[in-house]
Amino acid sequence: MQDAPLDYGPADALLVVDMQNDFCEGGALAVEGGKALVPGINAEIAAARAAGALVVASRDWHPLDHVSFAHRGGPWPVHCVQDTEGAAYHPDLALDASTLRLSKATALDADAYSAFDGTGLAGYLEERGVARVIVCGLALDVCVRATVLDARKHGFTTLLLASLSAAVDPAAEADCRAAFAAAGAEVRP
Ligand SMILES: [Zn+2]
Repeated sequence: MQDAPLDYGPADALLVVDMQNDFCEGGALAVEGGKALVPGINAEIAAARAAGALVVASRDWHPLDHVSFAHRGGPWPVHCVQDTEGAAYHPDLALDASTLRLSKATALDADAYSAFDGTGLAGYLEERGVARVIVCGLALDVCVRATVLDARKHGFTTLLLASLSAAVDPAAEADCRAAFAAAGAEVRP
């Protein structure tokens, strides 16, 4: 059964991390259970939107031959190459014109896991009076982890929707939870 969506307010931002085809089943860097997160995330998006909260959808958006790809010595297979089907948001994700799309890791020579890394997001959220950041999406142990920790680093109250996130390596989940607790991030089971 799906959790009821959170109570959102205008000082909240819902951060939907990297819900892209390449991170879902059938993609180049698929996370098991990725696709199944979409309906629950859509319910959160609808609740956030109705309450006047900001909805942000980050995406991994790499140039060809990005430094994170294996053939350039990086840790990952080729994934989320700009303008490919794999880099597109999952087609069932309920993004609308008011959703802030945020591309990251667009430089050839640098990777970026966090939605805050090189995007100007923290300053923008502060400018809008956002106090609380709610995070969901993919992958729990990589980009979601980095985003949650960065949100705390920037001083936002931070809540991870754990049932709406999945890990590349499920064995890493316990370590993620310890890191979130140490950083003062709240986790909704
Ligand atoms: Zn990437």
